[in-house]
Amino acid sequence: MSKVALITGATRGIGKQIAITLAKNGYDIAINYRTENDDLKNTKEEIEKNNVKCLAVKGDVAIFEDCEKFVEEVIKEFGKIDVLVNNAGITRDTLIMRMKKEDFESVIDTNLVGTFNITKNVISHMLKARFGKIINISSVVGVSGNAGQTNYAASKAGIIGFTKSLAKEVASRNILVNAVAPGFIETGMTDVLKDEIKQDIEKNIPLKRIGTPQDVANVVKFLASEDSSYITGQVINVDGGMLM
Ligand code: NDP
Repeated sequence: MSKVALITGATRGIGKQIAITLAKNGYDIAINYRTENDDLKNTKEEIEKNNVKCLAVKGDVAIFEDCEKFVEEVIKEFGKIDVLVNNAGITRDTLIMRMKKEDFESVIDTNLVGTFNITKNVISHMLKARFGKIINISSVVGVSGNAGQTNYAASKAGIIGFTKSLAKEVASRNILVNAVAPGFIETGMTDVLKDEIKQDIEKNIPLKRIGTPQDVANVVKFLASEDSSYITGQVINVDGGMLM
């Protein structure tokens, strides 16, 4: 029986690469989407090329009822969830003087509450199965902080606390919970930055290159696999050495 991975925010960027990488490794894949568009169609096709199943369910991670329905449909289709990757995330960057309450709340609601919403619905199935791998996508700024990102850094630091607490809660049931903290990765999220800013960032990365979604997906693949069966409650930076 194939393993099943549920990945949020997989229509583009890092989440898409994680979904394709796990599909290449034989996992059946469940993803959610907010809009039925070409990104979704393309992701689904790329996943299915690997002779695995792909279930796509409409829903917003910030809405608890959507997550409830998403998980119900995944269980109906596949009967279990072996791996959960909480990846969906947004930024609304600006200095605190200019930041509106909505900018703060929407980032917390998607990144942190969204992680809770999906996990809360998945965990009972993993507890029953006495098996599970949960991988939460945080960020190096959740550890270091970053001017202009009080909302985002707070959400990503929150994910780290969530990861470590949950890891302690469910370790006895053989459910392993880890976080991956990417540095600067080339996706739609970082495309919006000016070229000079990107070059500046690149200069400060010891490995002298910006990361790719595949760099992150490779670590998620490892954390999802049996090879990581003695690792829980950890935060693994995938940042070319940026934070050390
Ligand atoms: P992208 O903006 O490229 O993709 C984000 C994905 O999340 C999209 O599929 C988007 O769907 C989905 N999404 C956003 N909000 C919601 C929501 N409320 N409900 C469901 N899906 C949602 O981002 P990245 O691939 O760059 O980022 C992925 C993760 O990695 C995020 O958590 C991000 O914070 C983190 N990260 C990224 C870094 C980088 O440098 N890129 C660095 C550190 C961490 P839709 O198409 O509907 O918008």
